[in-house]
Amino acid sequence: MALYVEKFGGTSVGSVERIDAVARQVARTRSEGHDVVVVVSAMSGETNRLQAMATEVHARASARELDVLLSTGEQVTIALLAMALDKRGCAARSYTGAQVHILTDNIHGKARIMEIDAEPIRRDLAEGRVVVVAGFQGADCDGNITTLGRGGSDTTAVALAAALKADECRIFTDVDGVYTADPRIVPEARRLERITVEEMLELSSLGAKVLQTRSVEFAGKYRVPLRVLSAFEAGGGTLISYEEDDMEQALISGIAHNRDEAKLTILGVPDEPGIAVRILGPVADAHINVDMIIQNVGEDGSTNFTFTVHRNDFPKAMEILEKTAKDVKAREVRGADDIAKVSVIGVGMRSHAGVASTMFKTLAEEGINIQMISTSEIKISVVLADKYLELAVRTLHKAFGLDQGQEG
Ligand code: ADP
Ligand code: ASP
Ligand code: MG
Repeated sequence: MALYVEKFGGTSVGSVERIDAVARQVARTRSEGHDVVVVVSAMSGETNRLQAMATEVHARASARELDVLLSTGEQVTIALLAMALDKRGCAARSYTGAQVHILTDNIHGKARIMEIDAEPIRRDLAEGRVVVVAGFQGADCDGNITTLGRGGSDTTAVALAAALKADECRIFTDVDGVYTADPRIVPEARRLERITVEEMLELSSLGAKVLQTRSVEFAGKYRVPLRVLSAFEAGGGTLISYEEDDMEQALISGIAHNRDEAKLTILGVPDEPGIAVRILGPVADAHINVDMIIQNVGEDGSTNFTFTVHRNDFPKAMEILEKTAKDVKAREVRGADDIAKVSVIGVGMRSHAGVASTMFKTLAEEGINIQMISTSEIKISVVLADKYLELAVRTLHKAFGLDQGQEG
């Protein structure tokens, strides 16, 4: 008897037939004697549809009301799944995030889970019921509905698995595991049997949306046994590993890409102590995350400062930066959202030199200009014009020997 938390994403519950198929699978696991907590996303496309409706009503809808709206997508699928389970004679109860006490902070649209009271779920399980929980949502301490950021159902699942000390958290999706690159862009990409949690964290945060970054953070913190599998066919999927040693150490494990960023530059800023905080402080105060940062001093002794933010935050960040520019008497502000970021990731990089030069040489040979670079111990990221994104990912995939049939 084991306890599994099983999460099904948007495509996996994308129609009534699909919900029925999920119910069949969950009922089978249940009939094998295991306890199951199911987390579901909204039907695919639904969260976008709700978002678009909100924008139609109000271009700058309040974040609180947006969360009330966006969270409804998941409320539909939990109820339908509970009904489908009931039809199969499998006792089940559905709950919203707030109902199972998923307590978050009050940052609407990207709330963080702070606490989960797992007792009510345990009671249901003890009484032989499958518990179906709405992903992507919680409530703050005043009872306001919050959402966890796009893709947040993964985080609901891993957080529940941690709180319940589940034997495994299984993320069922429309691919059969984690690949060396997004299979939609690189048909030659290979499924990884295992990936270290560190590498998975980099892959996710650098754009591989197969797992939401926060879900991987949670998994790492609480060492949640975590596996990514296909909702459509049987197979072992990809196991997130906490032991680096037992991995065959490929130099590069994967390539991630991200089209969701925009670049802002403030030119002709006085080069003096405190300037970085004067530029980035107001951006942070608006809860806008800054990713890459470059500062360089020009010939006249003034400095240019470039940074990237999520594309959704671009208009707001531009507005803030224009204001800062006036305060610090900068010469000019520029912005561009026709950029993309490509990153190569691998723990093998720690013990091998030359990854950066291979990466830069490969891009140069394709005539691709690099606009920004950032590195960490296990990854190198570059920003380039978004029209080169697919070419860059495919040629790097090949250059690092990740293509199917090649030696890794
Ligand atoms: P779900 O709706 O189940 O949460 P997502 O669309 O959020 O599914 O995530 C699955 C998608 O992630 C895949 O269809 C794939 O295109 C994309 N993806 C990006 N990078 C990778 C990768 N390295 N491995 C597997 N899938 C990836
Ligand atoms: N439905 C939400 C989204 O589309 C959450 C999720 O699917 O994980 O982002
Ligand atoms: Mg997802």
